[in-house]
Amino acid sequence: MTTRHGLSNTPHMATATLSIDLDAICMAWRTLNRLSATGVETTAVVKADAYGLGATRVARALAQAGARRFFVATTEEGAALRQSLGPGPQINIFNGHMAGDTDMIHDLELTPMLNSLDQITRHFEALPGHPFGVQLDTGMNRLGIEPTEWTAIAPIVLEAKPEILMSHLACSDEPEHPMNPLQLANFHAMTDGLCVPRSLAATGGILLGEEYHFDLTRPGVGLYGGRPFSNRSIVRLSLPVIQIREVAAGETVGYACAWTATRPSIIATLSAGYADGLLRSLSGRAPLWDGDTSVPLIGRVSMDLITADITDLAEVPSHLDILCDQQGVDDLAAIAGTIGYEILTSLSPRYDRRYVGTGT
Ligand SMILES: *Cc1c(COP(=O)(O)O)cnc(C)c1O
Repeated sequence: MTTRHGLSNTPHMATATLSIDLDAICMAWRTLNRLSATGVETTAVVKADAYGLGATRVARALAQAGARRFFVATTEEGAALRQSLGPGPQINIFNGHMAGDTDMIHDLELTPMLNSLDQITRHFEALPGHPFGVQLDTGMNRLGIEPTEWTAIAPIVLEAKPEILMSHLACSDEPEHPMNPLQLANFHAMTDGLCVPRSLAATGGILLGEEYHFDLTRPGVGLYGGRPFSNRSIVRLSLPVIQIREVAAGETVGYACAWTATRPSIIATLSAGYADGLLRSLSGRAPLWDGDTSVPLIGRVSMDLITADITDLAEVPSHLDILCDQQGVDDLAAIAGTIGYEILTSLSPRYDRRYVGTGT
């Protein structure tokens, strides 16, 4: 339990640092843009604070790279994004026109993707002439107007000139899934010949091929390093070593004495825990990285701290990485038993977000 002489206990940085490479995000956007046919508009989904990476900086960078239309989940997110982007870029709201949002939608020129008869009625009554899109349900059964309803109301809705007709694929991360062609056929049946721009594909849909692209694509996770477009160079999460100690063989570390030293060991305590999105299911399972060298995370993940066995490192590191070139969001997700989306959107607001590159 003593600190070995010569091992510094001085923290080099106080908070964990999340480095976000804006150039790599823009490069991913351009790659996704190139994957679709000419004439198809590649938009950008920046909901949930751009999947945890910071919507303001990410959207500005993507706007400079050429994105003209952004999607967010809620009107509040849209309002914040409008402040960041200023007038010009289109900001579309997946959750549509919710009660109480009318003023924000109007004043900040947001475009709701209306997804029910109620919303269509609300929008047409409260903001006649204000831009909108329509979300159709082609089988996911989450948001959107059902085929029979659509047949009944389409003539009235089309008269008001929607900007987009969109739907969302439930299984696009599984290219062979029969749901994909089924939803494609349903989308055609609901929208063919209506002369309104159409959108069906998110990241997974872009990779399914051109017949899924229609007029606009809506990539999200592919911009941020997640599958099916895995890119480990976009985010790096460095956790500061804030204390080190020696433990003797037989001593335990952390809650529930979940780890027992089998040899004299040097233990590093790092500043980040499950309150920062380092899921508790990572306990004892995720490697941490000192450059190319991995060390084991040992014991339980606590709320604000984790511990690592650094006995085998030649020197005490100032920090260890948990997301880096060696271990991307999908790698960490696999260890935690979740998906890259959840790793990204759990990234703590406490992290010091540092932006690399200019995004052009
Ligand atoms: C989140 C979302 C997207 C983006 O999906 P990714 O899989 O992250 O590319 C696109 N469309 C809708 C309706 C969404 O909810």
